[in-house]
Amino acid sequence: MLSDDNLQQQRALMVEEQIVARGVADPLVLKAMAVVPRHLFVPPEVQHKAYMDMALSIGYQQTISQPYVVALMTESAKVSSSDKILEVGTGSGYQAAILSLICKDVYTIETVAPLASDAKKRLQSLGFINVHVKQGDGSLGWAEHAPFDAIIVTAAADTIPQMLIDQLSLNGRLIMPVGSMYEQELIRITKTSDGLKRENLGPVIFVPLR
Ligand code: SAH
Repeated sequence: MLSDDNLQQQRALMVEEQIVARGVADPLVLKAMAVVPRHLFVPPEVQHKAYMDMALSIGYQQTISQPYVVALMTESAKVSSSDKILEVGTGSGYQAAILSLICKDVYTIETVAPLASDAKKRLQSLGFINVHVKQGDGSLGWAEHAPFDAIIVTAAADTIPQMLIDQLSLNGRLIMPVGSMYEQELIRITKTSDGLKRENLGPVIFVPLR
């Protein structure tokens, strides 16, 4: 078993070599990535790979995203301490944990029931009390808590669900991988008083939205 010091050191290296080196600079994002115990969000058999530069399987044909991609999505969403966030695709709960250290409240939806209940237990036991997990179809959003300052979708589709755009606040940002099964672009939609602004943040690979 690795000591806490060793794990902290692995996280510090992960932040420097994988995240800062690729241009993520938001200090709040870097701090969150340096403290959240990623090894506790992955199955025991891949725990030794938790701080490596890769996505990892979490069962049910789903993955926890590569650390850099989590950091990039969080920075791109321009989140701040008063924000209420919606995440679609809870998976392990790792992205939600990162967001919860920066934002006021995180609402997250997962369609695979055992992943949703495991993530809920994990987040609770680790003390991420401002994360609210529910099982369901995230493409419908979570109307009773809308509007959201940012929405992060961690699964890909060829179009952005309209209900998510509807649940963005004015000046709200939506980050989502958009494209086919095998290649997608990370898209940022910003809701402005003049309409929707769309930016392409570069190529990514995600599991499909179902
Ligand atoms: N953010 C996760 C990684 C998510 S992988 C983490 O940090 O670990 C994408 C997740 O989206 C998978 O768990 C998948 O089951 C879920 N998903 C796919 N379609 C969905 C939908 N329509 N609604 C909610 N979750 C969905």
